[in-house]
Amino acid sequence: MTQRFHLALPRGRGKAELHRLYSDQLRNFNLHHLIPSSRGGETNEFNLFPYKLKSHRAYHALFLNMTIWEVWERVEEIYEEIFNTNEEKISRQWINVCRLKKDTGLDVQINRIFGVEYLQEKWIIAFGGQDIRQAQRLLKYMMLFIIFGSHMADTNYLFDNGHLAEFFEKSPADENRLRAFNICFGESADWQRIKAKVSKIRRQLP
Ligand SMILES: [Zn+2]
Repeated sequence: MTQRFHLALPRGRGKAELHRLYSDQLRNFNLHHLIPSSRGGETNEFNLFPYKLKSHRAYHALFLNMTIWEVWERVEEIYEEIFNTNEEKISRQWINVCRLKKDTGLDVQINRIFGVEYLQEKWIIAFGGQDIRQAQRLLKYMMLFIIFGSHMADTNYLFDNGHLAEFFEKSPADENRLRAFNICFGESADWQRIKAKVSKIRRQLP
């Protein structure tokens, strides 16, 4: 992207404040770490996603403590394993990228056998549907929180071009945010394009 990021970090909002902020639009949710804290993820507005409780639980049942990037990179592959299999029971080999305090604990998790139908059900609950594109959209929606943080609660503010420009000027050149930006908007997006894309991702949510 062409915008230059400054290093002042607008990271002040704590968990309780974020929860209050998102509560205006959402019920029965809690805050999900997009990079899990067990994988070094921070507890701040750019790493927290307001996730419906039931969907949140289903997500971790499938992906344990995979980072959003690991899920994003493997989402099609995992989808195939869960939905295009002739087996009735499978194990979650895809979680081999996870890190637990004890490696033996991870081995147990990886080799645990699940009914395919159970995993399919978890997938549908986590992403709101069985279409792979729905999963990709929700992951991109999560990435918008990495980019915009708690401004996701106030799209009017966000969609004002002046504010958007100002926001990016104040935002840090964090590796995760640049990555999210490139996936959601492409390398050289202008404000109009960003606006259009954010609306599109939001519109297509389940
Ligand atoms: Zn979580």
